[in-house]
Amino acid sequence: MAQNGAKRILGRRYGLEGELRRLPGENENYLVTATDGRRFVLKIGLPDANPADVDLERVLAVRIASADIGLAAPELLPADDGSFGVLYASGDGTQRPARLMRFVTGTPWSEAGAPSTARLRDLGGAVARMIGALESVSHPATDRTHAWDLARACTQRPAVDRIDDADRRRVLDAAFQLYSACALPRLSELRRSVIHGDVNDENVLVEGDRVTGILDFGDSLINPTVCELAIALAYAMLALPQPLAAAAQIVRGHHAVRPLDEVELDVLFPLVCGRLALSVSIAAQRPGDRSENPNWFVTEEPAWRLLTELAGQSPRAARELLCGEIPRDPPRAPPATGELLEHRARRIGPSLSVAYRAPLQIVRGAGQYLYDEEGRPYLDLINNVCHVGHCHPRVVEAGAKQMARLNTNTRYLHRRLVDYAERLCATLPDPLRVCWFVCSGSEANELAVRLARAHTGRHDMLVLDGAYHGHTNALIELSPYKFLGPGGAGTPAPHVHVVPVPDGYRGPHRGQGRDAGQAYGDEVGRAIETSSRPPAAFIAESLMGCGGQIVPPDGYFERAFEHVRRAGGVCIADEVHVGFGRVGHAFWGFELQDVVPDIVVLGKPIGNGHPMAAVITTQEIAASFDNGMEFFSTFGGNPVSCAIGMAVLDVIEEQGLQRHAARLGERLSVALRELQSRHAIVGDVRGSGLFLGVELVRDRETLEPAGREATEAVERLRADGMLVATDGPLNNVIKIKPPLVLTEGDAEMFVRGLDAALGDVARR
Ligand code: PMP
Repeated sequence: MAQNGAKRILGRRYGLEGELRRLPGENENYLVTATDGRRFVLKIGLPDANPADVDLERVLAVRIASADIGLAAPELLPADDGSFGVLYASGDGTQRPARLMRFVTGTPWSEAGAPSTARLRDLGGAVARMIGALESVSHPATDRTHAWDLARACTQRPAVDRIDDADRRRVLDAAFQLYSACALPRLSELRRSVIHGDVNDENVLVEGDRVTGILDFGDSLINPTVCELAIALAYAMLALPQPLAAAAQIVRGHHAVRPLDEVELDVLFPLVCGRLALSVSIAAQRPGDRSENPNWFVTEEPAWRLLTELAGQSPRAARELLCGEIPRDPPRAPPATGELLEHRARRIGPSLSVAYRAPLQIVRGAGQYLYDEEGRPYLDLINNVCHVGHCHPRVVEAGAKQMARLNTNTRYLHRRLVDYAERLCATLPDPLRVCWFVCSGSEANELAVRLARAHTGRHDMLVLDGAYHGHTNALIELSPYKFLGPGGAGTPAPHVHVVPVPDGYRGPHRGQGRDAGQAYGDEVGRAIETSSRPPAAFIAESLMGCGGQIVPPDGYFERAFEHVRRAGGVCIADEVHVGFGRVGHAFWGFELQDVVPDIVVLGKPIGNGHPMAAVITTQEIAASFDNGMEFFSTFGGNPVSCAIGMAVLDVIEEQGLQRHAARLGERLSVALRELQSRHAIVGDVRGSGLFLGVELVRDRETLEPAGREATEAVERLRADGMLVATDGPLNNVIKIKPPLVLTEGDAEMFVRGLDAALGDVARR
């Protein structure tokens, strides 16, 4: 029936008669053998096909055919009225655009048998020559995208959830991660031009060692030019026993005709993995029975096999292999991790531990990723310091510019200092209006405690159990996390009064909702009553980090602050961990509870990794501190720090990171709660914005902590390229506090990874 329509068109519009044979493939295409023996292909497009796209195919084929580069391309033939597209009434009642093209002879790459070195090199050369021929094409239809656009491979990433096999999900996640971390951020640095876009093993024709033809310009578009080579590599490697070695010959052939620059060489391997990931993802989303349309899935199994093999490769080694045939200076090898570890053990104090059983040598950071010496990307879900993303270009530029101009102390007038102080204060409620700048959270907390003592004339402090406030002598005494932990004094110093953690999941007032807030708040009152001396201050993180990602129950701070203020003490909010929009629903953690502290301590994210911190308080407390003794910090508040701090605030605002933290954090919490419903070991999921915790327990009744299991899960995630850590007094809470630039795709990958890790630890 359909064939009759096709025959009719051939006769009426092209004056041809002959035999028709349906060609394999997604679209309705026919091989036409005319009665005089000439062969053609009749292609029927989709009903909604854009006529400009058909015209682009024609233009590109003409360009290749006329460029004299030794490549044949399917030339379109005019119909009776001179047009290159005719309308075809399809069997399904739709009108479809059809076009007739000359048949191009040659054997498809996929059927030509094992390629010789010469054929591999010629493929690289042919791709390079084609790039050269297409480079200057100007056509309105090239400015488009489609499902196979390698520059937008991440749009297909949600397909990972459709893969049933757990090992394959892991392989695909790793491939998308490699693409996202190593290719995507560099696409803007790449040369761009019109490319064919689908140099696959069916579209490349060969005769002997020579590539002689190229078919199907239906996916052409403007793209990073190197995508053309990456796509050709991905398909040519499919059936080869040593895919990277063979690909190196293609790269060499390409480089000889069109030299690749360093960025193109860097992204080539991640792009190859991206293309394979795209291919298996699109196959996974195709509806229907594989046996009905086997041609749609021909590359699916080979692509999975290749992807699985490539997933085990270090990106650095893969780059070396791919480029091994290109003459150049030998690259500098990174130091061996084992050697570095030994060296460190000799020269760095042993009380500093190294993360993970297999320590990581991290050599680079960008956005939400860290990269090891092999170029492997790790999704950083733990670094709340590099708040707006590692090495954010805006922040780096602000710091570098100011560093090249001036860096001195705050005894000179400098505009940046007051501008920055003004800007920071504007993020805080009244009456928090006076700033000091220092270089670390510890220094800032030290200063906060001094302010409180100067203002009250008292010495005693109230602290939360499990809290950490810094590494100085005075702060270790205020950090039960340290003094009650290994190597600690084991008991509080006489001036330190420890109050229970306002933990809704554990502790004396667990599970009491808002009443828990009041009850825990009253614990502060009780500690004040039972102490022989009134407190100078109550210091608390607004949400507890080291304490185990604790979100105090509603009403807690209101009640606790009431008790403290009634006793003449001041309230210090340690926002070192949680400030600057991380909690999503507010810029500062204390705002979640509608309270205003007397002193606020800022650190970590304030400089996105540059060592800076601040203390902000009221005019009244500042006046009490002005007792004749000068406060001076050599580095605090220097122009470089202020420039960096300002850039961080700009980025948070301009990139809408607080809002993003709220939205993505909400989705992530929902997904983590879904894991909780399936994994008995997940006792609690809590947090706000992108400050989340997953507490593991062996028994949901007794709350027996699953510390070992939490560590195992963290190690498994590290092996899968995702960095989290455990914390809390029982070391059973998985902490999640990534740079705020984490994407939805990253979050989904983490949830899949955690799901697999929890399954693993449960089976052991
Ligand atoms: N306060 C809190 C809540 C912290 O988490 C930390 C560091 N982990 C500090 C203070 C101390 O900051 P720094 O390490 O910059 O001295």
